[in-house]
Amino acid sequence: MAKANVHSIESFGSVDGPGVRFIIFLQGCPMRCLFCHNPDTWELGKGQEFSADELLDKAERYKSYWGDEGGITVSGGEALLQIDFLIEFFSKAKLRGINTCLDTSAQPFTRREPYFSKFETLMKYTDTILLDIKHINDTEHRKLTHHSNSNILDCAKYLSDTGKKVWIRHVLIPGITDKEEYLSQLNAFIKTLKNVERVEILPYHTLGTFKYDKLNIEYPLKGIEPPSKDSIDKATAILKQGLEL
Ligand code: SF4
Repeated sequence: MAKANVHSIESFGSVDGPGVRFIIFLQGCPMRCLFCHNPDTWELGKGQEFSADELLDKAERYKSYWGDEGGITVSGGEALLQIDFLIEFFSKAKLRGINTCLDTSAQPFTRREPYFSKFETLMKYTDTILLDIKHINDTEHRKLTHHSNSNILDCAKYLSDTGKKVWIRHVLIPGITDKEEYLSQLNAFIKTLKNVERVEILPYHTLGTFKYDKLNIEYPLKGIEPPSKDSIDKATAILKQGLEL
């Protein structure tokens, strides 16, 4: 039985998946997104340990608030780093009739074994994926996250081919991801996918900068302000152009 390293828990989440959800943020992330507001989730192996049953018992205390759509979401950090735990957790959740949602950057995704078979197993127990595409351009993605986006886009294709329900999420950062050219390219990519239920812009914010001070890390996007409502509206329109959502 795998144990999870948990960073934190939110009992009533309303933005990370359908309906009201119990959200578990797992510890550990391989990405180093310049805009990350949770650098305290990066280090692997930290956090509080929980078994799948312990977390499900905790989550089920809130079941009466979930209605028809809600359930549990596992986020991060990067939840896919703890895929063995996820398989056990989501398979047990399905036995209890709980709706499952995975919020991921998909950075660990690969079609190589043994990871790929594990991912396929996990998908059997996952109802919805919230897939964060940080940048559509690979060069810019590397600058922004220190990783390529090629396996992430490949994950999106795999999920499309298998018909898994996906929400695409994109952080809008002034001067970095808000260029029309990139938003149009992302829109064109999303149009190639057959399984997208929702497309969401997540406006960049600076609420996590104090954590960088605490960790003694210099905040890399100093001076960049959150996007205006006008630019959020424009970006949303470009990203959803021609999509029937
Ligand atoms: S993937 Fe998420 S948790 Fe990881 S560095 Fe990027 S924003 Fe932070």
